[in-house]
Amino acid sequence: MYEKVGNIVKTAQQSNTAVIAFICMDHIMARSVVYAAEAVNTPAIVMLYPEHVTVQHTTGFETYAAMVKELAGQVKVPIGLHCDHDYSYESIMRTIRAGFGSVMMDGSMNDLDTNIALTKKVVLAAHESGVFVEGEIGHVGAAADSDNDKTDLYTKPDAAERFCRETGVDSLAVSIGNAHGEYKETPHLDIKRLEEIHAATDVPLVLHGGSGIPDDQLQVAFSKGINKFNLGTEFLGRYYQAVAAFAAENAENPDPVKVIDLPGYVQSRLQPYLEERMKTLCHF
Ligand SMILES: [Zn+2]
Repeated sequence: MYEKVGNIVKTAQQSNTAVIAFICMDHIMARSVVYAAEAVNTPAIVMLYPEHVTVQHTTGFETYAAMVKELAGQVKVPIGLHCDHDYSYESIMRTIRAGFGSVMMDGSMNDLDTNIALTKKVVLAAHESGVFVEGEIGHVGAAADSDNDKTDLYTKPDAAERFCRETGVDSLAVSIGNAHGEYKETPHLDIKRLEEIHAATDVPLVLHGGSGIPDDQLQVAFSKGINKFNLGTEFLGRYYQAVAAFAAENAENPDPVKVIDLPGYVQSRLQPYLEERMKTLCHF
């Protein structure tokens, strides 16, 4: 069932848990998420990274929104649709026109005043059409650059309070020792800081850079205000492994039409992983 991200995140907040937003670059990944969610009866969010449209061309904005809504209509569990990191008012308006009811305005590379001004403008326009907006302060950088250890990038509780009050955002991505991509060493979330941010704000908080954070740290974070959790790198890695396994198993096959079995094969490999993640981490 297609459901507004705002409603799913609110349910997660009431249940003191987090919904997982999975980066899906195409139909195979999105279908795997939707059917895994149904199998474990757990809400999930299918999330587009805009560069998959603008750079890699694995899908289109309208195509993607329609695809997720069609897949969601095939199951009973709530499925949300969200567009991840976007950086300008214009591109976010285009995403909303394409059918997305939930977007992220990431102004976190700017100074606080500029980030507030940019995010506020998006929120005002988005709310006119009932669209949910995620903002970010502090800056979630790249794990490859060990940004997760750079405390000057971390979210400051007083700035978070001001940001939420002045922009009217619906959710807030925080930097508390997390980073995008593959961590060089096991990350350690700054839980004390999370508690302070949670106390200073009343919106659901979002944790990016979820691949590689130990489950015990995630469970603590989910009990202290993190209600949406983004998973990309690890899931993309599983997708790559499944495609490689299919290619290896069929290396001697002379029939080029064999490739039509690829989606089903990959989904059968991805679903157990996705079901395990949702069963372990989400407690609705
Ligand atoms: Zn992110």
